[in-house]
Amino acid sequence: MAEPEQVDVVVVGLGVGGEEVAGRLAEAGLSVVGIERNLVGGECPYWGCIPSKMMIRAANALAEARRVDGLAGTAQVRPDWAPVAKRIREEATDTWNDRVAVERFTGRGGRFVRGSGRLEGPGRVRVGDQFFQARYGVVLGTGTRPAVPPIDGLAGTPYWTNREAIEVEELPESLLVLGGGAIGLELSQVFARFGVRVTVVEAMDRVLAVEEPEASEVAAAALRADGVEIHTGVRAERVDHDGERFTLRGAGGVEFTGERLLVVTGRRAHLDELGLDTVGVDASQRYLPVDDRMQVTDGLWAVGDVTGEGAFTHVAMYQAAIVIADLLDRARHARAGADPSGTASVVGGAMGAASALSASGSSGSAGTVPRADYRALPRVTFTDPEVGAVGLTEEQARARGINVQVGFSKLADSTRGWIHRVGDEGFIKVVADADQGVLIGATSVGPAGGEVLSGLVVAVHGAVPVSQLRHMIYAYPTFHRAIEAALGNLH
Ligand SMILES: Cc1cc2nc3c(=O)[nH]c(=O)nc-3n(C[C@H](O)[C@H](O)[C@H](O)COP(=O)(O)OP(=O)(O)OC[C@H]3O[C@@H](n4cnc5c(N)ncnc54)[C@H](O)[C@@H]3O)c2cc1C
Repeated sequence: MAEPEQVDVVVVGLGVGGEEVAGRLAEAGLSVVGIERNLVGGECPYWGCIPSKMMIRAANALAEARRVDGLAGTAQVRPDWAPVAKRIREEATDTWNDRVAVERFTGRGGRFVRGSGRLEGPGRVRVGDQFFQARYGVVLGTGTRPAVPPIDGLAGTPYWTNREAIEVEELPESLLVLGGGAIGLELSQVFARFGVRVTVVEAMDRVLAVEEPEASEVAAAALRADGVEIHTGVRAERVDHDGERFTLRGAGGVEFTGERLLVVTGRRAHLDELGLDTVGVDASQRYLPVDDRMQVTDGLWAVGDVTGEGAFTHVAMYQAAIVIADLLDRARHARAGADPSGTASVVGGAMGAASALSASGSSGSAGTVPRADYRALPRVTFTDPEVGAVGLTEEQARARGINVQVGFSKLADSTRGWIHRVGDEGFIKVVADADQGVLIGATSVGPAGGEVLSGLVVAVHGAVPVSQLRHMIYAYPTFHRAIEAALGNLH
């Protein structure tokens, strides 16, 4: 067998997390091979965050225009999907072409290989007929794919995942959505606002089941107001497609039909494809467990959705910063050992990047490696109203045996909510650890729920005493003044 080619780092999967790690390390002067089998950039720019938020921006513009009546005269709205599809095709995804992203990576000094990477022992990765040995480490940023449930009949049908929903050029007349989580609700509201008859079918007893129950209620009411039919507590048992329409049958004999079926029931890492057995890691796990420096095992790091720490772009970026610092630290030590004079040129480059890392806001400083801390992990569902949340829900906090206090205030009861009138649905809910006197979780639902969330994230992240939060000044009349009201009724 041919000897592997020696490089510093191999990154398998150039999605959000992998591209950041590979690009920054290459920029720092390390020899980095980046392997991607599909599109450099991954799910977020081509089928996830960016195009879905473009769709939401357009759908929200329609909704705002429909709110003109009663506030500012009259407005006639005629939705047209064509400009949305065009913007996604031309501005967001370059017709699902990653030429620019590949050039961005190679421009930073990385070496790009298109193909599927697979481990073949510690530090060794094979991709097609190329074989690499990494001096400092291998990073897996291989993400997830849609988890499609084993429902009778479903596998043979032309159902959609998020990919087909994002790529759609002409909207169907009706859409069944299996799954009432964040992605399901965001896309349902978009399509409904463009005139599609949408039916959401969810197995749990409420939509957005991971968030506070009050958030589920507001989100469900908002979608229903947009004409979305929502059926919760329905376990899908069978799917049929007669060439034109889907029929979805649920337990108890319920039946729904639609021209298209969108399956958004979660996502799954495919660890069995990565050769993990060759490095002694169990590939039958759901995700790749990592320590607080994102190490799976010595010389192997993971970043992003594959770690199961939160399927968000901001988690992938946060973890990437840690991996970069850790690998630069390892490279610096190894090079210093090999070159005691400390004049190896790459060390300067690497340290430059490490300094840049700390300057760009990472909690680490040059030469020290920050540790992952997910206590204040924010998440936003970009429905209208937006559902933002951080830390623990009330139920999660109680399940941990924490002495919980809860505060709640409705946006409509705030001056800004009252002024806003139509579209002012929402609330602030804060969850405090009464013994510690700090917030450990919060939810912010409203027209700018995701933006208002930022203050609450700082409060949870910094463990700011509740007494201090109560005695700060909140600008009048903002939506975020509802935080002060919620803190005022903590009990
Ligand atoms: C519809 C939708 C909307 C979303 N909206 C948001 C949002 O608003 N905000 C947010 O924070 N997050 C959002 N997300 C989630 C976000 O897209 C993911 O968290 C993010 O893409 C994760 O990045 P990643 O680097 O872990 O993996 P990915 O982006 O999934 O990239 C992994 C890459 O690895 C490649 N790969 C896999 N195996 C191999 C292999 N063996 N060899 C070579 N390459 C391989 C894949 O082809 C892929 O390109 C959304 C997701 C979806 C589906």
